[in-house]
Amino acid sequence: DEGGNGDGGQTIVPGTAPGFEPFEMNVDGELVGFDIDLLEAVVAETDYELGDWQELEFDGLMPALENENIDVIAAAMTINEERQETIAFSEPYYSADQSVLVQSGGDVEAGELEDLEGLEVGAQSGTTGEGIIEDELGDDVSYTSYDNYVLAVQELERGTLDAIVIDEPVAESFADDREVEIAFTFETGEEYGFGVRQDDGDLQEALSEGIAAVEESSQYDEITREWFGE
Ligand code: GLN
Repeated sequence: DEGGNGDGGQTIVPGTAPGFEPFEMNVDGELVGFDIDLLEAVVAETDYELGDWQELEFDGLMPALENENIDVIAAAMTINEERQETIAFSEPYYSADQSVLVQSGGDVEAGELEDLEGLEVGAQSGTTGEGIIEDELGDDVSYTSYDNYVLAVQELERGTLDAIVIDEPVAESFADDREVEIAFTFETGEEYGFGVRQDDGDLQEALSEGIAAVEESSQYDEITREWFGE
C-alpha cells in the first residue's frame, strides 16, 4: 500500500451494481453509464488511479467496501444518516426523487403511496425505495424484495407484481424501454454520493474536490447529456 497520493497515485477499486439504467448497466457485456463516466472523470482530477470495476448486488456494496474488496461505491447511492453510521460519502453529485412504476395499460391506478395498500409491491434489496415501502406502508402491502430492479420490472411486465418503488430517473429509463409506466412521482430530495470507508478521509476529500472540478468544467454537463439527453 502506497498510503498516500503522490506521483503514480494509489489505486482505488470501484464497485457498482448494474441494472440501474442509465447510471450503471451492462450493454453488450460492457459496463457503462453515468456513474461510470462520472467517477472516471472525477478520479482523473485527483492523484488516485482507478482500478478495475467490480460488479455486485446493490446490498453487497457496503459490506464489500468495509471488507476492502472495493474502495469506492459508485451506484446512485443516496446519502443518508443510516448509511453514514457505517460509511462516509463524497459531496453529492446528483439529486433524485422516487417514482412508482406499474404495468403499462394495467389495472393499477395509483396517485399516492396509500393507493398501493393491499397490493403486491416490490423494490431492490437495501434501497431507499425499500425503506419507504417498509416505513410508509408496512403490513398494508405484500412486499417482495429483489436482488436487482431488473427482476422486479420483469415481474411487473408479467403482471405478477403490481408496483415498484424506484428512483425517478431510473423509472423513466425503464418506462422508455419496457412495458411499464410511471404512476406517480413523490419528492424525497435524495442526493447521490460516492461511498468510501469512514477512515478514508483523504479519498473522501479528493472525490469531493474532483466532483467540484468536473462540475466547473464542461465535463459534468457532457456526461449528463450523454446519458440523459439535453
Ligand atoms: N438511490 C437509491 C438508494 O440509494 C437506489 C440506488 C440503487 O438501487 N442503485 O437506495
